[in-house]
This record gives sequence, structure tokens and C-alpha cells, in this order.
Amino acid sequence: MKKKSWAEPYKIKMVEPLRMLSKREREHAIAEAGYNTFLLRSEDVYIDLLTDSGTSAMSDRQWAGLMLGDEAYAGSRNFYHLEETVREVYGYKYLVPTHQGRAAEHIISKILIKPGDYIPGNMYFTTTKLHQELAGGKFVDVIIDEAHDPESEHPFKGNIDLNKLQALIDEVGAEKIPYVSIATTVNMAGGQPISLENLKAVRELTSKYGIAIVHDMTRVAENAYMIQQNEPGYVDKTIAEIVKEINSLTDHATMSAKKDALVNIGGFLATNDADVFEKARNLVVVYEGLHTYGGLAGRDMEAMAIGIKESVMDEHQKARVGQVHYLGQLLLDAGVPVVKPIGTHGVFLNARKFYPHLTQDEFPAQTLAAELYVDSGVRAMERGVVSAGRNPETGKHNYPKLELVRLTIPRRVYTQAHMDVTAESVIEVFKNAHRAKGLKMVYEPKYLRFFQARFEKL
Ligand SMILES: *Cc1c(COP(=O)(O)O)cnc(C)c1O
Repeated sequence: MKKKSWAEPYKIKMVEPLRMLSKREREHAIAEAGYNTFLLRSEDVYIDLLTDSGTSAMSDRQWAGLMLGDEAYAGSRNFYHLEETVREVYGYKYLVPTHQGRAAEHIISKILIKPGDYIPGNMYFTTTKLHQELAGGKFVDVIIDEAHDPESEHPFKGNIDLNKLQALIDEVGAEKIPYVSIATTVNMAGGQPISLENLKAVRELTSKYGIAIVHDMTRVAENAYMIQQNEPGYVDKTIAEIVKEINSLTDHATMSAKKDALVNIGGFLATNDADVFEKARNLVVVYEGLHTYGGLAGRDMEAMAIGIKESVMDEHQKARVGQVHYLGQLLLDAGVPVVKPIGTHGVFLNARKFYPHLTQDEFPAQTLAAELYVDSGVRAMERGVVSAGRNPETGKHNYPKLELVRLTIPRRVYTQAHMDVTAESVIEVFKNAHRAKGLKMVYEPKYLRFFQARFEKL
């Protein structure tokens, strides 16, 4: 019989004590932070579900790897280990390390995008889209409609709508589309995977027009796990095999190793194209550092190489995604409105359903994240109108259909009991939701405003 438990394939040998504030202290802290959870001090947080980015617990192997750092300016042995690992595990030929994912996005956008180009993608990611725009491109969302519907139980909400993609090609012409941007999994849709069937169809269509595919492979192993679980024909394949198959259908990749790859800092650009590699290897010197370290210490590259291998182990992903789904199920059972199906890296609360009395101009998701912190010290993140920013042409707010709060689970960090505490708090906040008043924005930075915007209570 196949056992259902997702119990962790590791044991704990070091702990980091947490500080617990009183409710009054938390009320004070969130007001000081302008009701923006990004501006809280981490010491004032009990369970930190802000992001899964750079917050994973490294293994004893990775920590040991730090001691093997070869801190040479050029040609560090850890670079060659990382390069070999990227080839072996991911299957991409050429590697350019970067300090994190957005640096790779910056470089690939500069190389491939000309002003006036269009970049279709399976929904946007904040930094990805911004770099496309800064390079003069225009992002076009071609994800399936189900991705915008938090109630849809489609198992692969990260899929591209081939009709939308074809329509864009017909409208603007293939020569105006340097590449299709494909993320595994789709963060902004709630951590939703793309199927291999769909990716193969996208590859076929883009090949016909000579359009490349840039793969945002930040959570490719989590995506592969969902394919293994839910896509017909993959139940007997390993995650490692599925990851390779996904990557083989794409041309270039950007990676935030702070997610899947279990490191606290790191990223890279990978490609199978010698010409793009040549250009990237040159640009990285301008923005990051020499092409054999790209803004990273040798030890960081070593930890990344080891983390990449750990990330594609079946038992690791089963426990990782298992924990996220455990929290999701607690909330579903309690009738809390969450995005369905539960994603791989977090549970996304549907703030519109919490607060039907608030308009998007009153920032429902921002409000919910603040309320949750005050209730229990759990820190979450807004993914709604604040994150969506403004339309660069009209200057008006972008009003996304989804107004979400993300409870993002760091890898290998928290226990089942922490998930229970989190669920209890969310349920409590949901019960008292009718009392919430909403927020007004009193400070707005120009770029990626969600990081630094400040609010006051209405
Ligand atoms: C985090 C993330 C990025 C950006 O990576 P950084 O390492 O934060 O710069 C890009 N795409 C996706 C899907 C991400 O989740």
C-alpha cells in the first residue's frame, strides 16, 4: 500500500529560537511598518511566511560545502562544480552565475528584447515583467483563463492558452516576439504548474515561427512533482527525469536558486545557445562580476550545486509540497477562501472573499496581511493591486482579478505544529473579517512598489 504521510526525510540538529511579542507590541510594530509586512523587522515576526525566497534551511552537506569555498576571483573550483551540476541535473549547456534571479532576467532581457517587442508569458512575475519593460518590451499575458479564477480546480493552471498565443503572433507578427516567457510554477497564479503536454504544444508552435522559449525555472522541481502526481503517463518517472524533460523543451533559463535550489542567495542564467551565452558572459561582467562568479562567493556556488541535487529528490519534494498541502487542507476544511488547487510553495488566501465590503482601492490583501500579523505574528505577503503596480502608459493602478495574500512556506524550516498555529490564526481573522476597515496608501515608490509602500488605517 502506498503510504500517505509526507513526513520529512531529515531530522533537526540545530534550532533558531524565536521571539514572541504581545498583541499590543505587534499592533505597534505593524503601524511603524506602514502596514506593509515587508517593512517589519524579522525579529518581530513569529512564523515568517513572507516568502520562500532565500529562507530555506540548508542541509549539513550544504553547510559543509561552504567550507569548500574556493574564493579565487577567477576560475573558482566551485564554479566548475556548479556548471557541471547544471549540465547534469538541468541539461542546459552553458551557465552564467548571477547573484539572484532578477539579475539573470536583466541580462537575458537586454540580449533578446528590442524596443517595441512583445513578450507573451504564462502570467507575469514582478521582476521578470519589469526587466522586459525596461528593455523596451511589452508583456502579454497568454495564460489560460482558469489561472485568473481562484475557484477553478484545473490541475495545470500554469498552462499557456495556445489560441491567445497564436492570436498575438497573428496580430503583431513573429518577428516582434523574441521569446515566450514560461514560468515553472506560476507564482502569481498561486504556485500553479504547467503540464508537459502543454509545454510540448507551446514548443511546437514557437518552433514553427522561430520563437525562442525562456524558462523561468525558479520552481521547476516543484512543477515536476505536480506533473508526476497529476499528469497521465508520469507517475513512474522520477522528478529528476521530469525536470530534464521540461528543460529540454526550452532554449534559455533564468533561475532564482533562492527557491527550489535550497540556498540563501544565488541564481543563474543558462542557455543552449552559444551566441546568447557569449553575450551574457560579457554583460555579466558589467552588472554582476566575472563570469565565473557572477556576484556570488565561491562558497555560495558550492552550496547551490549541492542544493540543486537535493531539490530533485522525490522524497524531498513529497515532504515540501506535502507540508504546503497540509496547511491548505486545514484551511479548506474550515471553509476559508483559498486559491484552488493548493499550489506548491504556498497557500494563497482570497482576500476579496474575506472582505467583500472593501474595494480594491482600499487594498484588501494588504489589509489581510496586516490583520494576520497582528493576530498571531504570522507574516504573509500581499499579492494584489499593490503588487500589480501601475500601467506605465496611463499611470493608473493595474487592477488584477486576484487579490491574494500568500502564506509562503520556506523549505525545511517550520514544523507541522507551526502550520497548525498558522491555520488557527487565519481562521480567527476570517471570522472577524467583517470588522476590517481597509487602508490608504500614503507613500508609493516608483518601482516594485509593494516592497516599500506605506499605508495608514482608514
Ligand atoms: C523570486 C522569483 C524571481 C526573481 O528571483 P530573485 O532571486 O528574487 O531575484 C523570478 N521569477 C520567479 C517566478 C520568482 O519566484
